[in-house]
Amino acid sequence: MQNPYQNAMAQLDKVVKVKKFDADFIASLRQPNRDIRISIPVKMDNGSLKIFEGYRVEYNNALGPYKGGIRYHQDTEINEVKALAFWMALKCAVTGIPMGGGKGGITVDPKNLSKKELEKLSRGWVRGLSDILGPHKDVPAPDVNTTPEIMAWMTDEYRKITGDKTGATFTGKPIEKGGSKGRGPATGLGGFYVFDTLRKNLNLPTKCTVAIQGFGNVGGNAAHIFTKNGHNVIAVSDSKSAIFNKDGLDLEKVEAHKKSTGSLKDFTGAKNITNEELLELPCDLLVPAAFENVINIENVEKIKAKAILELANGPITPEADEILFKNKIPVVPDILANSGGVTVSYFEWEQNLKKEHWTEEKVFEKLKKKMENASKKILEKSKISKTSLRMGAFILALERIQEKS
Ligand code: NAD
Repeated sequence: MQNPYQNAMAQLDKVVKVKKFDADFIASLRQPNRDIRISIPVKMDNGSLKIFEGYRVEYNNALGPYKGGIRYHQDTEINEVKALAFWMALKCAVTGIPMGGGKGGITVDPKNLSKKELEKLSRGWVRGLSDILGPHKDVPAPDVNTTPEIMAWMTDEYRKITGDKTGATFTGKPIEKGGSKGRGPATGLGGFYVFDTLRKNLNLPTKCTVAIQGFGNVGGNAAHIFTKNGHNVIAVSDSKSAIFNKDGLDLEKVEAHKKSTGSLKDFTGAKNITNEELLELPCDLLVPAAFENVINIENVEKIKAKAILELANGPITPEADEILFKNKIPVVPDILANSGGVTVSYFEWEQNLKKEHWTEEKVFEKLKKKMENASKKILEKSKISKTSLRMGAFILALERIQEKS
């Protein structure tokens, strides 16, 4: 299997076969503007010194300041961060927000750190990168395993170093520390608005059965939002377990079970299955909301869902994507489906700079409009070029970035 950056470049190779772009422009998109690796020394609770590796990739800023989350994961490495930064550039472009693409990370399993160590590590990431960050330069946000609390530590560290009073350098902050209402569920909700706009074109029924891989910020919120809107969430999973009930899951009870046992496993209202089995369930909509490359050449022919909504970044490899297209299983691509998060992050940045506080209603209304517009434009592009929604989204994004390059 290729690394996520090779996958991202394979997508770029594919789009230029569907639509002609200026060759120099495409060449400029084959590498990030800069990628930075830092060492972060942390004095651990036992008195020892541990050095962690941190990253920030600034991919493209033709449309505005670099924007993109920070991932904490034991498998995080530079190629993953580069791919995620590239997709961020395209994502901002498809939603029509004036921001570019960036991404950050630290190679660490945060579950192995105490809260004190996690705070030191997070502040260390900011100290290593404060020169390149800033409300008009580079604006990070949360991603896998990074939380509003971590964003608050980072904002505080940045303020201490630079004196910045806008609080607009990090988004995804707690509301009382300058966060936006609605940022928590924004990615899942944005994904739902996209799905709702495209549902008829995806040939899906008004009430869908939905299987969701991942039960974190994105997958957990999506599960609630789909249920609230009359759909039937039949399976969810986390890193260790997956559960399934063909009649639907009682999410409140699932959450209570996960809270008390630390896992989804052995929930009384469902059957234990594996993460692999979840992906292969017969259902109307499959929602990968965890990690990259989970649908690949090994399992793609076993996918029985009628459509896929990519809430995770890069969950389908390019080879598997081709096969899904041939098998007429439509895929709503990540750069559209999960762009609700960065859209509300942009709203947070705007509110911080203007010293405003919008109501949740206003945030959701603006989010809905952006998601509907982007979905319709991408559908149109894919129809005109007789191609997939992913290629439609790439065409729209590249046209917009090229115009400003
Ligand atoms: P999170 O850390 O809150 O949740 C991740 C979930 O995935 C957890 O439930 C975890 O148990 C599960 N998981 C981990 N390893 C797994 C595995 N091998 N198989 C199945 N499940 C596994 O992270 P998140 O913020 O929900 O992000 C999930 C995905 O959505 C990532 O691809 C991320 O880049 C993408 N995304 C997040 C946002 C955001 O606003 N948080 C925005 C856009 C895209």
